[in-house]
Amino acid sequence: MAEYIEREALIKFVKQNTPDINGETTIECVERAIRAMPAADVVEVRHGKWIEDYEFFKCSECGYLTDYRLSKFCPDCGAKMNGKVGADNA
Ligand SMILES: [Zn+2]
Repeated sequence: MAEYIEREALIKFVKQNTPDINGETTIECVERAIRAMPAADVVEVRHGKWIEDYEFFKCSECGYLTDYRLSKFCPDCGAKMNGKVGADNA
């Protein structure tokens, strides 16, 4: 499973946790600090689109059906809709 790290938090963490060995910071010191950093608590963004299905629209990710195109996000699975409406076999 992928782990995510916030850029600014990583820079701060590495600066605080990278020891100098004989006055020199090695790439191994930086790698050790990066591996020790806790992952950020994030949710992976899913992308989908509304698919025309007779008089309904269907979420391409979870199959949620609605009779009108609602929003930029599927209310059922939370997928971010890219705004394009395609045919079911697209
Ligand atoms: Zn969905």
